[in-house]
Amino acid sequence: MPLPRPFVGGNWKMNLRLASAVELAEDLHAALSSQPTEPAIDAVVFPPFPYLQGVGRALGHGPPALGAQDLSAHEDGAFTGQVSAAMLDDLDARWVIVGHSERRHGLAEPQSVIRAKLIRGLEADLKVVFCVGETLAEREGGHAERTLVHQVRSGLEGLEAAWFRSIVVAYEPVWAIGTGRTAHPDDAAEAHRWIRQTLGDLYDSGLAAATRVVYGGSVTAANAAELFSRPEIDGGLVGGASLKAESFAAICRAAATRVS
Ligand code: PEP
Repeated sequence: MPLPRPFVGGNWKMNLRLASAVELAEDLHAALSSQPTEPAIDAVVFPPFPYLQGVGRALGHGPPALGAQDLSAHEDGAFTGQVSAAMLDDLDARWVIVGHSERRHGLAEPQSVIRAKLIRGLEADLKVVFCVGETLAEREGGHAERTLVHQVRSGLEGLEAAWFRSIVVAYEPVWAIGTGRTAHPDDAAEAHRWIRQTLGDLYDSGLAAATRVVYGGSVTAANAAELFSRPEIDGGLVGGASLKAESFAAICRAAATRVS
């Protein structure tokens, strides 16, 4: 079975200002358009909400594609400060991140809300990056597998099988995010196998093999190729290194050369 199409996401988090976000988008568009990453990979950037429109204009039809860092679990209404799937669609954002640890742990977002957001996004035809990952205490306590299985089951059990074409699972160990402490590729690959095994148990081995599982946690231009050389790792979700066009483009190239 061929490997799934690689995915590389750039999560800009709460960084940049409008001018620098647009400049980064223009630089990335130029870099990715002039290298043969398309249609070999899905490259997506996730700017802050207020910059989606300006970045979207700078990207045109891409690459990269446009995504949002979060969405509301609700369709419309009295939800101060929230952003709906329909609003994202109005801005041509086709992807959304759900369950990022900075919301899961940093903002105590419960699993029930994460799942509701995931379903809301899928029902609105958005593609969803669903993040899971263990804390340092869970890894050191020998509970990483249990944590991942629980997060995958509570997020994904019972969804329509067809939706998995629109889901990318991001394995993001909390201790590796923004710390410069990248997971060893063997450990990342093992975690990806646990995730796929869980998908196989919930659905079947074909769906598990076809669903993209990417790694996130201090991915850089220097370590991307080694991570992506593992057949289990279908690309990456990148924070810090996505804020520079050269490093994000290099990570995209590393993902593209993985296709063989
Ligand atoms: C992330 O934000 O999902 C992330 C992985 O960040 P960083 O690459 O900076 O560790």
